[in-house]
Order: sequence, then structure tokens, then C-alpha cells
Amino acid sequence: MLHIGCHLSPSDGLLNMAKTASNLGADTFQFFSRNPRGSKAKALDRNDADAMLLYLSENAFAPVLVHAPYTLNPCAEKPETAQFAELVMREDLIRCTAMRTPFYNFHPGAHVGQGIVIGIEKTTALLNRILTDETDTTVLIETMAGQGSEIGSTFEAVKAIIEGVERNDRVGVCLDTCHVFAAGYDIVNDLDGVLTIFDRVIGLDRLKFIHLNDSMFACGQHKDRHAPIGEGFIGLDGMRRIVTHPVLKELPFCLETPHEKLEEYAEEIKLVRRMTE
Ligand code: FE
Ligand code: FE
Ligand code: ZN
Repeated sequence: MLHIGCHLSPSDGLLNMAKTASNLGADTFQFFSRNPRGSKAKALDRNDADAMLLYLSENAFAPVLVHAPYTLNPCAEKPETAQFAELVMREDLIRCTAMRTPFYNFHPGAHVGQGIVIGIEKTTALLNRILTDETDTTVLIETMAGQGSEIGSTFEAVKAIIEGVERNDRVGVCLDTCHVFAAGYDIVNDLDGVLTIFDRVIGLDRLKFIHLNDSMFACGQHKDRHAPIGEGFIGLDGMRRIVTHPVLKELPFCLETPHEKLEEYAEEIKLVRRMTE
């Protein structure tokens, strides 16, 4: 069975967010660990977290995904910027452990002129400092579009980060379909080939989550601009091949498509579910 959901906000509490997901026809979802711009997190409401957990299990949800603030730069040159990313991610991992949400997704960062090798080294070193015994959460490296000086837009770069992390039994990958396509992996014309390369370079056992987004730009343009499902360069047929692919179809999928209203996500979830019928 397809597991799919969308990005939601926990502004009305964690349990209410899970109920909203259910009302949309979702059986997974993603939410930001805190304000996406990275401000201080509210104290965790233990009762609310427990109520969400119970609700998710009673309603047979697939794992949900917590997303780090997208403004963090774990490999920043400025020490204050890198230290801020580290502080937030360290706190978030402890919070995920307390919430018992299994996966924490983050963007590996932008090297901004330091070079990709230094970028990879810095992000790897940060992961080595925060993957402590205080947390059992699995960190997911999101595959990036390679916009600007983003690292993590090649499977080799993702692999290099994973290899450098001592506790890499707790490191996985979240594949963003818009990002990999933008990065130059042609999942429209050669999905099998791309997955074969992923397996050879990273290993498919590392793949834990899919961000399901169409792309406003063509393959290899390095432009991170999400489109609604079927309205971009990946297209409906491309999307159908992704969600029905034997090595992907059991994974949780999360929409990060541009819509104003929740009802539009409900429609999109229906659209994608129909593709698998
Ligand atoms: Fe992301
Ligand atoms: Fe994404
Ligand atoms: Zn994106």
C-alpha cells in the first residue's frame, strides 16, 4: 500500500496535526522541528507527543518525518553560523528522541566558496559531534538540487558524508524527486538507471523517505523549484513510475508541492493514490 502525506504545521499541536493528516487521506507527513527560520523551539508538550504517537500507531501511519529548519548551514564558513546549525540540530535530535519520531531530515548545507570537499568535511564533523548516546534518531541527508554551492547534489557527495560518520548506522537518505532531477539525474527517462547508480554509490538500504515533488525546471538545471504533481517536467507518467517502482513503492512519500490550501493536498494525495491502483 502506498504511504503518502504532505508537509504540515504543528501550530495546533502534534495530535491535531496527525488528525489533520488523517483527514487529508494521508498516512504519513512531515513537519518542521521548529520555526523554519530556526528560532528557539517551544518546550515539548509530553502529553501531546504521546497522544500523537498513540494516534499514529492506532491509525497505521507509516513513519513521519521531522525536517530541520532549511535556513541552517551545517558547513558554513562563519563559525557562529555553523555553531548555530549544530546547536539547533543537537536539540532537535534530542526532541525527536523524546517524541519517538524516527527520522530527522536536514539539508547538508552550502559551502559558499570553501569548496565541496571542505563542505563535506564540515557537515560530516558536525554529524559526528551530534550523533551521541543522547539520541537514537536516524538523521536523513536530503539529496539537493545543487543550486548555488549546495552540497549533497551528487550521490557521491552524500556517500562521502555517510562514510565519514562513525555512527552511520543512524544516517540515511531522503530522496527529493525535484532535487535529484534538477541535479541531473534523469528519473523521467531512466528511473531504473538512476536507482541502480544510487544503489551502487550509496546503497538502497540507506533510502528511508521520498520527497515527492514535480519540478518547474528541466533535468540538470540545478533549480530548486517544486511544482505540483503532474504540472512540471517530471509529469504524471514520471510520477506514476516513481510511486509504483518496486524498490520505492513501500517507502513513505511526502509532498512538498506549492499549494495554498490543505484541500489541494487532499486532492493531490488522491491523485497519487489513484496512480497506484
Ligand atoms: Fe528539504
Ligand atoms: Fe525536499
Ligand atoms: Zn526543494
